[in-house]
Amino acid sequence: MSASFWLDRTPRSEKKIFDVVIVGAGITGLSTAYWLEKEDPNLKVAIVEKSRVSFGASGRNAGFVTCGSVEHFNRMINKHGLDQAVEIWKFSETNLRLIEQEIVGNSHKELEFENAGAFSLAAQDNEFAELKKVSEIMTGLKIPTEIVDADGISKRLGATGFVGGIKYLGDSSTNPVKLLEKMREKIKAPIFESVEAYKIDTLPDGTKILKTDAGDFETSMVVLALNGYSANLHPYFKDKIFPTRGQCLMTEPVPRFMEGPCYANFYLDYFRQIPTGELLIGGFRQIEKETEVGYSDHVTDVIQSSLHNFVVTYLPKLAHAKVTHRWGGVMGFAKDGEPMVGSIPEDPSIFFAGGYTGHGIGLAFNTAKTLVDLIFGREVPRWISARRFQ
Ligand SMILES: Cc1cc2nc3c(=O)[nH]c(=O)nc-3n(C[C@H](O)[C@H](O)[C@H](O)COP(=O)(O)OP(=O)(O)OC[C@H]3O[C@@H](n4cnc5c(N)ncnc54)[C@H](O)[C@@H]3O)c2cc1C
Repeated sequence: MSASFWLDRTPRSEKKIFDVVIVGAGITGLSTAYWLEKEDPNLKVAIVEKSRVSFGASGRNAGFVTCGSVEHFNRMINKHGLDQAVEIWKFSETNLRLIEQEIVGNSHKELEFENAGAFSLAAQDNEFAELKKVSEIMTGLKIPTEIVDADGISKRLGATGFVGGIKYLGDSSTNPVKLLEKMREKIKAPIFESVEAYKIDTLPDGTKILKTDAGDFETSMVVLALNGYSANLHPYFKDKIFPTRGQCLMTEPVPRFMEGPCYANFYLDYFRQIPTGELLIGGFRQIEKETEVGYSDHVTDVIQSSLHNFVVTYLPKLAHAKVTHRWGGVMGFAKDGEPMVGSIPEDPSIFFAGGYTGHGIGLAFNTAKTLVDLIFGREVPRWISARRFQ
């Protein structure tokens, strides 16, 4: 890619010079601008976005603001040890608290932000046994959960075919696009939409030149907030953040009957009834893994029909509801499933955050805050530092 004179819309007298240029206007990019400006209100920050705000996964997700990580807590303990698993859990709880405190404020209704908790449901006895174990561990840690049996699931969620589950009382959900609109209102940084970055050069005095299809941006620091698209712009991410597609479908609205959002099948599948009554369901990536990699947000027949079969089988109240929307989005899966912040080892004025492995709404706001800690020279925990890969 290159930039033509004709496409550069910057007035000729006006050079684009900023202290920090963030690439990507999803939840990571906007959150980073928010925390940078909070740290130093005099910083001149700009955001460059190849399409429009929320065009990436941030505008295509299911809106679960979940605590925890990509797997059941007992498995997190097996993987990280108890102390670190608790630290990761607390980090996501802080993410939720900060989103509510700094962005949502009194706008819960406007942002469709609900604190109804979230369920994890088991269709098999072995998963239910794990969930009961999780609930026991959580009770010991004073993290509130509730065990729900098949009858409770049927009454409270209108779902059949599950043997049991647990409810995490602290989880929330939102309309992610409205959340990002609210975030946008709270930052001063100009957002250059429909501007694609393709290269970062460095002048002899250390100044960075971000090359875009609408001309150059001059800056002291670049922040890559690209998550699933990271490796497309910089080779550093090729073996660290893998572009992975997620697909969803939405039905027409029906009167509300579900108490809260649900995960099923070890976090791989998820569904929720949004406040206006539509049912959103996503997941089933595991049945067609080979197609669900790369940068396409198209949908496939195999996964879409599995999503619909799930609705018909497990949610009888929606068996005849029309499907109104089908979509895909590009997530960034990290090598070890956890997010990362850091700077490029051979170019330390290029910073980055990403790798949420399908949980960026539950993690990115606090991850961006952690990135700003790193930028301002403060220590960050090793589990989230990209240095863990060096
Ligand atoms: C179907 C689906 C369901 C999901 N459900 C949930 C959920 O319920 N809860 C949850 O916590 N997470 C969920 N996620 C994950 C979550 O959406 C992501 O982790 C999060 O949105 C990542 O945000 P981001 O800002 O880092 O990346 P993105 O939102 O992908 O933003 C990156 C931006 O960079 C832009 N960009 C790319 N290349 C360039 C370039 N060269 N120049 C300029 N701009 C560029 C893109 O256009 C994009 O807007 C889901 C994801 C998908 C796809």
